[in-house]
Amino acid sequence: MNSSGLALMNRPKPLDIKTTACDYLRMHEDTQDEELHPDDAFVELAVEVFSMLADATRVRMILALRDDELSVNHLADIVDKSPTAVSQHLAKLRMARMVSTRQSGNRVFYRLANDHASKLVQDAIFQAEHSVGAAYRHHHEGH
Ligand SMILES: [Zn+2]
Repeated sequence: MNSSGLALMNRPKPLDIKTTACDYLRMHEDTQDEELHPDDAFVELAVEVFSMLADATRVRMILALRDDELSVNHLADIVDKSPTAVSQHLAKLRMARMVSTRQSGNRVFYRLANDHASKLVQDAIFQAEHSVGAAYRHHHEGH
């Protein structure tokens, strides 16, 4: 075996532990996973991403925006918070480039800038289901 082969074998494989079918699909959906290492330059910023999402209202907002772009008022209705509070959350999420806006006449609609926040929230909820032994909700039989 040559040295590059060895280096490849010694690479950290965070997904090596009992890969489920659902992990397998996710892993192959995003080939960049292969290039992630513990010394990644974006680790500190990734922590800020987690902290950006460490709020129940924001998690609910991300979930609401998964399907559709929404106005502040509509979003406020869905997450049962004041439009002012939702506006403030949206401003933060927008600065973090998790949401973007679309202007239509004098109305502004918010949408997810990409699907990363949505995936993070989905996985957090799945992990939460594991935490209380309710993983059957997202794990199909035999997975
Ligand atoms: Zn699971």
